[in-house]
Amino acid sequence: ESPPPKLELVFIPFLASGHMIPMVDMARLFASHGVAVTIITTTHNSLIFKNAIDRDIKSGKPIKLHVLPFPFAEVGLPEGLEKMNSVTSQGQKQKLYQATMLLKKPIQQMLLDHIPDCIVSDMFYPWTVDFAAELGIPRIVFQGSSYFALCAQYSMRHYAPCENVTSDMELFVVPGLPDRVELTRLQVPDHDRTKNELTAILDVIREAELRSFGVLMNSFYELEPSYVNHFRNVIGIKTWNIGPVSLCLSTNDKYERGHNSVVDPHECLSWLDSMKPNSVLYVSFGSQHKFPPPQLYEIATALEASNHPFIWVIHNEETIDGGDEAWLPNGFKSRVNGMIIRGWAPQVLILEHVAIGGFMTHCGWNSILESVTAGVPLIAWPLYAEQFYNEKLVTQVAKIGVGVGAEKWLNLLEDDGKVVVKKKKIEKAVIRLMDGGDEAKEIRERTKELGRKAMKVVEVGGSSYNDLISLIGELVLLRESRIN
Ligand code: UDP
Repeated sequence: ESPPPKLELVFIPFLASGHMIPMVDMARLFASHGVAVTIITTTHNSLIFKNAIDRDIKSGKPIKLHVLPFPFAEVGLPEGLEKMNSVTSQGQKQKLYQATMLLKKPIQQMLLDHIPDCIVSDMFYPWTVDFAAELGIPRIVFQGSSYFALCAQYSMRHYAPCENVTSDMELFVVPGLPDRVELTRLQVPDHDRTKNELTAILDVIREAELRSFGVLMNSFYELEPSYVNHFRNVIGIKTWNIGPVSLCLSTNDKYERGHNSVVDPHECLSWLDSMKPNSVLYVSFGSQHKFPPPQLYEIATALEASNHPFIWVIHNEETIDGGDEAWLPNGFKSRVNGMIIRGWAPQVLILEHVAIGGFMTHCGWNSILESVTAGVPLIAWPLYAEQFYNEKLVTQVAKIGVGVGAEKWLNLLEDDGKVVVKKKKIEKAVIRLMDGGDEAKEIRERTKELGRKAMKVVEVGGSSYNDLISLIGELVLLRESRIN
């Protein structure tokens, strides 16, 4: 039998927007290099990416979706709730995790029916490492965070510095990192401070990572060089950087990336066209977080007081009581020069517009990277997950933004509904970045410089381009040695 004509990769993304979006972009990037790619997803999630994949197929790229039915009945979730962003309670979240475990069997069956050359698996499917070994093929892990966060997390768990501080608010230096980075105990994720359920899951994920062929990162060398080196050479894990993956998107892709935009993107862009360069603040907290109405009120009053035009994305439309915008100050809309988007926004398109001068973000890694790529400096307002680590990259290491002064890593069960940052602090941070003092100018210039570098790394000969090509080369060699 002659070898298959193309290298074949199967992508298995986790069912959350922040994971699916970059992984689908990555899959499409491989396909644009002639690698045959199959993305495994579920019925409703597949609809999100269908148009983009159809466009790829039309233009001759070797890519397809493999759609599995989601086990609603088995876990007791209402039909249609197929990703982390759509579930509304902790109980539903757990059911969704359970459902992802139930997908293991059909995924294994599919892979047995047709064995690919490599599995690219989200970190949340550690079982794929043993299965890939059984099939005799490499497994690559997709890690959706920054190198910086991975290194910080490693240090926190390896050196346990929290044990030596006497109060929650005392600043301490994170040991073993290339730069001096300071945190307080309150900002450290629960699972990196004390052993809990998630610590155990993360141990399994880490162990699977160590036994994998390597880790695929949506980052680029020039953004966090010391941490790429630290992760590769000190922690000792092989990686490839192929980001920023959003740079491989067409304009059509950007209209509906990850979801259909709830606003007409043209309307949004023509509003931005009427604004001065670098004058508009974009405010958005990712695909999952829903602030309670009192916190929305603090944000609204801060935006009004800071007096800069803004686009503010709010994702909790269904949970806000009191009807339409009862949580806004009286007359807010008539007084401010801003646009509120209630639901999914075309984020990359917005960030790329010259009028955008700042991004107030929860420090999700995709958001940070998309902002840097567009040369937009940040106002960092971390909430949970690895976001407080990312904040330190933004404010202390890369120095591409200012902090809003968030003090505490949020435990969603305990802290739900609380106001975490007051108006005064929010207003101060907006003014600090947007009013253009010397510090803000330096921050802006540094971010724009990184944005220019980002454009270069994905071009022929750039660092991310080279990593992609060398990974493809390695996988081809592995396939040949397997076949012969
Ligand atoms: N996103 C978007 N529109 C929205 C909200 C989010 O396009 O209204 C995209 C955003 O561009 C990014 C992803 O969703 O690619 C969010 O990922 P991130 O890591 O920033 O945060 P998460 O949602 O995982 O907390």
